[in-house]
Amino acid sequence: MPIGSTVLGYPRIGPRRELKRALEKYWSGGIDAAQVRQVARDLRRATWAELAAAGLDSVPSNTFSYYDQVLDTIQLFDAIPQRYRDLGLNGMDTYFAMARGHDAVPAMEMTKWFDTNYHYLVPELGPETRFDLAGDKPIAEYQDARAQGVETRPVLIGPVTFLLLAKAEAGAPPGFTPLDLLEPLLDRYADLISRLGAAGAAWVQLDEPAFCADRTDGELAALGRAYDRLSQLPGRPNLLVTGYFGDFGPALPVLAGTAVEAVGIDLVAGRAAADRIPHIPALRTKTLVAGVVEGRNIWRTDLSAAAELCAQLKQSVNELAVSTSCSLLHVPYDLDAETSLAPDVAARLAFARQKVDEVVLLGKALASGDARLIATTGAAAGVHRDEQVRARVAALTPEHRLRVPYAERAEAQGAKLGLPPLATTTIGSFPQTTDVRRARADLRAGRLDDAGYAERMRAEVERVIRLQEEIGLDVLVHGEPERNDMVQYFGELLDGFAFTEHGWVQSYGSRCVRPPILHGDVSRPVPMTVEWSTYAQSLTSKPVKGMLTGPVTILAWSFVRDDQPLGVTADQVALALRDEITDLEAAGIGIIQVDEPALRELLPLRAEDRKAYLDWAVGSFRLATSGAAAGTQIHTHLCYSEFGDVIEAIHGLDADVTTIEAARSKMEVLADLSSIGYSRGVGPGIYDIHSPRVPSTDEMVALLTEAVRAVPAERVWSNPDCGLKTRGYAEVDPALRNLVEATRRVRAEL
Ligand code: GLN
Ligand code: ZN
Repeated sequence: MPIGSTVLGYPRIGPRRELKRALEKYWSGGIDAAQVRQVARDLRRATWAELAAAGLDSVPSNTFSYYDQVLDTIQLFDAIPQRYRDLGLNGMDTYFAMARGHDAVPAMEMTKWFDTNYHYLVPELGPETRFDLAGDKPIAEYQDARAQGVETRPVLIGPVTFLLLAKAEAGAPPGFTPLDLLEPLLDRYADLISRLGAAGAAWVQLDEPAFCADRTDGELAALGRAYDRLSQLPGRPNLLVTGYFGDFGPALPVLAGTAVEAVGIDLVAGRAAADRIPHIPALRTKTLVAGVVEGRNIWRTDLSAAAELCAQLKQSVNELAVSTSCSLLHVPYDLDAETSLAPDVAARLAFARQKVDEVVLLGKALASGDARLIATTGAAAGVHRDEQVRARVAALTPEHRLRVPYAERAEAQGAKLGLPPLATTTIGSFPQTTDVRRARADLRAGRLDDAGYAERMRAEVERVIRLQEEIGLDVLVHGEPERNDMVQYFGELLDGFAFTEHGWVQSYGSRCVRPPILHGDVSRPVPMTVEWSTYAQSLTSKPVKGMLTGPVTILAWSFVRDDQPLGVTADQVALALRDEITDLEAAGIGIIQVDEPALRELLPLRAEDRKAYLDWAVGSFRLATSGAAAGTQIHTHLCYSEFGDVIEAIHGLDADVTTIEAARSKMEVLADLSSIGYSRGVGPGIYDIHSPRVPSTDEMVALLTEAVRAVPAERVWSNPDCGLKTRGYAEVDPALRNLVEATRRVRAEL
């Protein structure tokens, strides 16, 4: 039975975030496990029914998860670390203990799912790990769907990707890598696939997205071995192996060389693969599941172009099925739920529900050969254009991305700011108190008008300034109380963005984000931060640092138009920020921070694509900041410490001061920075704000001492490793006092 038309996965948090609410109630003791299970069952059944009714030929199952599909796999194969077993909890609570921690046992490590904004829990494996098919989630869900009258295709994380995403458990011998466990894991996958077949499944999907990143020959060989083995299983269901978020590259011929029936590829992020398909003869006997409808952005598909590509690829394979490029997990449920989007913007959008319709339509057109089924959408129709911005971008020259040499700037800034060595500062936000949140909720609900809200925020800014003065910090911040979110805040003030009411996307567990939609040319009708910064500066004689979000981060955390290169869109955003910096300077702000926590996040999975990305990413940051006078000190903040792949780019940003996350990596990053000749200011965070722990003065003295050994003290800053908005004053207040005291002590030794 052919796959025909399908999607690789579907959102699961619920169209109204029903699962989020149920989970959070369960965690706080408001409802019991049976009630959460009921909500989950209803959501799964509604999804199957909806996908079947929409006309998909093949409906996926096991796309549901209470928290994360990798965590599901850990539990399914009984790879639960001992410390969670020791808690003696039932299955569901053990699962949530791994996800969220329990009593004194912290949660498992969580990290980004490839280059998306979704996060998974990292499996911990060791030579002693014994896999067992302990769970039956994929089978139970398959059977439940079947009982509802929907025949489905169970979706599993592929065994090789599962191992490649895992890390060696603490204490594993140095030579061990999780991939060493492939054979025993394949035994259990074989059991599972056989059981799914016995239950009646005609197809099973195995996701191997790890092969859309660069892989060693050994890893590719492991992929080949795995699917040789699984495809030799007697009496098994048909196997579909997918790769998404990029070009499947050399994995494609490897899989084509095994006996699996179908391979799914991402023809949006991995469009280049299309040209190689005719040259892989082994694909002639396979089904190609063509991911032509983008699964992770929200624009309507150019259906005629997609149909043409499918028709062309069909020549080179046995059978062609139409699909999404990846799971629809990464887009919101339903455009029809939105009531406030401008019609010309809405006309360009497709959320999960609409993407299913696109796939169905393409499938029908392809099966019937009737091109009239396809309405032409004209991708760029109705884009909000701003000729002035376009002309400005077109007229850019390399000089727009250049400041005077750092040495000159450092001198001008030194004279102007007169800061001590190891200047103390924070990253920008202060705790968002219940008062601040209440004011925002009151504003939204109409209980508070704009003036009343502004007054409450000003009071908060004043409180934060007084506190910083009293603690004795050198460079103050206004505390960002007025910002709901560091991207949304700017999106709401810029032209070219739109916002949804229900466009939630899962970030991790029950946490969802509602990314802004960057749909048109971007411009800045009014200054965005000047009033807040100047108000804060008016309260103190200490310098107040202005606070902006950088172009790369604004793009990374939005749904971004795809009708022009990302670099052009980033430059438009950069020009708006450049104007904001000019206005801040004119208003007397001498230090301005441009945050780029997402610089690393957008880094392409394949090394060959990285230079092009870093070129536009670094270029847009420099465009934003290079209008600043020599005496204006530009800071940037990056939210991670594994610099490896982007360290040159950090140098390339040419900021005067870079604050980074280092408290947890124990200052190793300083050596990395020195090794590439980084010679500007650096603030290696000495207070880990990701934990409620208050670091002692001694601890911070030790870290700072290490820092001044690696970098001359005039260039070292003393600061926490990220914004404080998620913390409470009970921790922040003593921690900052310790930070100032630690700095005093280290300064005294200089
Ligand atoms: N200025 C922001 C803050 O302090 C930076 C946040 C971030 O790095 N994610 O909240
Ligand atoms: Zn940060």
